[in-house]
Amino acid sequence: MIKFLENKLFRYLFFFLFLNSSILPVKSSSDLAAWAIKNNGVLELRTKSNTKLKAYFQKANQISGDRFWVDFPGELKNPRTIKGNGPIKEIRLGKPNKGKTRLVIEFKEEIYLKPLTWRLVGLDQNRWRIKLFDPKYPFKKIGEGLVVKRKVNQNLIRTKKSDYSYLKLPDVKQNKFLVVIDPGHGGPDPGAIGIGGIRETDVVLEVSKIVKNLLSEKGVNVRLTRINEVDLGLPPRVSFANNTDADIFVSIHANASRGKRRDINGLETFYYRGWRGRLLAKKIQKQILRVSPGSPDRGVKQGRFYVIKNTRMPAVLVEIGFLTGRLDARRLEKTTHRKRLAYAIAKGILEYLYKIG
Ligand code: ZN
Repeated sequence: MIKFLENKLFRYLFFFLFLNSSILPVKSSSDLAAWAIKNNGVLELRTKSNTKLKAYFQKANQISGDRFWVDFPGELKNPRTIKGNGPIKEIRLGKPNKGKTRLVIEFKEEIYLKPLTWRLVGLDQNRWRIKLFDPKYPFKKIGEGLVVKRKVNQNLIRTKKSDYSYLKLPDVKQNKFLVVIDPGHGGPDPGAIGIGGIRETDVVLEVSKIVKNLLSEKGVNVRLTRINEVDLGLPPRVSFANNTDADIFVSIHANASRGKRRDINGLETFYYRGWRGRLLAKKIQKQILRVSPGSPDRGVKQGRFYVIKNTRMPAVLVEIGFLTGRLDARRLEKTTHRKRLAYAIAKGILEYLYKIG
């Protein structure tokens, strides 16, 4: 009878979220390290790195309000219930079955939520955030008994849909590698000036900083040759890399064509010598092309640029597009595209590091 009632009354909406497909062993302790619900309606979670979360939402029914929960690997030591406030009725921390932890947020019956807009976002390897409600907008009150009239939706709560999440980047041995990233030009030397006055120095500095962050999140040590607009010659960049004994050196530039031809676009990556340099160049070139559809592949080439010729480690110089080209410039203006390029460069580097071990 109870089963029957459950089936009849409960309308489950399940939303799954798989953040990392790696199979984790059964943990003895919970992957959930900490949680907080802020006044602005944001739930923040802190977990062990690379954990696999599953989030669910169940629409209200006659006997309870909306419910949101997240399952974590690993068993919770002390199950507990905390009285909620505002729209939240209570928060429960439990172990639904052996080796699991469940965080349940039970909303008050009269609360109307909009789970369609919810996105559980991975901030980094161990931090998550989801906005559950907006305290600025009053919650629509629905009389008792009417709740079942709410439309049953079937939508996904998922991680922010981004192909550029660091989560998808290859894993390499932590703390093993040192990478020097060299944002070209700087200070009085703006590098190429493109359509609308877009400056190479600005573009490559932003891209380089994002590459650094992405690689750092993967446990790679990264040093930038410059972090702001300074006048930095080529020899100091080289000696910096040589003195820090970096594993690889990646100089990031953007192109300009002679006569500022708007029809010339494309990406190219240079190395000076050695199969390692060539391999690194190939890995990066492949990835930057993927995020720049339609922009020509100008190839992996040998080049005699000072910084790649004089550095002692495998070194490449990547040209992420033509600031003077119509197609490339329009993209390079945008932070979203710079992020994509940074992601691509980071991916190429990680693939290389993974390969050479
Ligand atoms: Zn340049």
